[in-house]
Amino acid sequence: MCLHMTLPSLTIVLAGPRGFCAGVDRAIQIVERALELSGAPVYVRHEIVHNRFVVEQLEAKGAIFVDELDQVPEGATVVFSAHGVPKAVPLDAEHRGLHSLDATCPLVSKVHREAERHFAEGRQIVLIGHGGHPEVEGTVGQLPEGAVVLLEDAAGVDALVVRDENNLAYCTQTTLSVDETEDMIAALKARFPTIAGPRKEDICYATTNRQAAVKAIAGDVDALMVIGSPNSSNSSRLVEVARAYGCDRSIMVSRASDVDWRWFDGVSRLGLTAGASAPEILVEEVVAEARKRFVVTIEEREVARENVIFKLPSALNRAAVALPETVPVT
Ligand code: SF4
Repeated sequence: MCLHMTLPSLTIVLAGPRGFCAGVDRAIQIVERALELSGAPVYVRHEIVHNRFVVEQLEAKGAIFVDELDQVPEGATVVFSAHGVPKAVPLDAEHRGLHSLDATCPLVSKVHREAERHFAEGRQIVLIGHGGHPEVEGTVGQLPEGAVVLLEDAAGVDALVVRDENNLAYCTQTTLSVDETEDMIAALKARFPTIAGPRKEDICYATTNRQAAVKAIAGDVDALMVIGSPNSSNSSRLVEVARAYGCDRSIMVSRASDVDWRWFDGVSRLGLTAGASAPEILVEEVVAEARKRFVVTIEEREVARENVIFKLPSALNRAAVALPETVPVT
């Protein structure tokens, strides 16, 4: 008997682009390359990117993830995560005699430089972002206390307390909702008409493209699944964007083993995407599991093609008998 005759049909609409971005790819390569050059263990401060699977893969190769630098033995190599770190962290690493490698995404570093420029020109900075996220802590930590005030939602604009209403600039976290951020910027400009902004968008290309891909399919599927980790900002935004664009039945799962297949009742078209820190293998895993339960048809829907590559720190391309203490982002 043909097994397919007993299985229901499911069309999986794959959103493109999805999954790894250039910043995540680079950060993982930095840890892998450091392991190759220096041997295990290599210490990593915080999750290198917000994905449990990626962290476990690197742990298996000899990476040790720590919360703070006092957990790293003197003389060891430590990598800072893709989200960026406050300025005090590389200084602390130096004082502790650690070799540090900076895996901060260059697009996050760009925001750091922007904030520094505004500060140097005498402006106070309104940072649009989510409190507690490591990227926000890293950006706030580029400047002295009080130089940056955090704005988490449009409702917070009226309550903002600033030093000088006519001497302000704004920056944003790179992984926010494009639409919500536009609203917040509009509200900021309405209250502070002279506020300066970035020359070019702070929300990164990967976040923008993954949200655009979800918007393109949200109205055309019964349900949408985002592969990602709950602490991943860009993945969480994809679930929200799907809901805002007409797909109420949208969820995030870490990987196939977390899927409750009862959730598929009544679903004949599933949108599937992955956050910028989730590898394609986790998408393939879900598709493979779906094939055991459905007759699956795949539809690819690509809204943009990405060809962004970030160079590794130059020190990692040389034989490293001793890694330099601090490798700047290139
Ligand atoms: S999501 Fe954007 S900012 Fe974050 S690592 Fe990827 S490219 Fe960089």
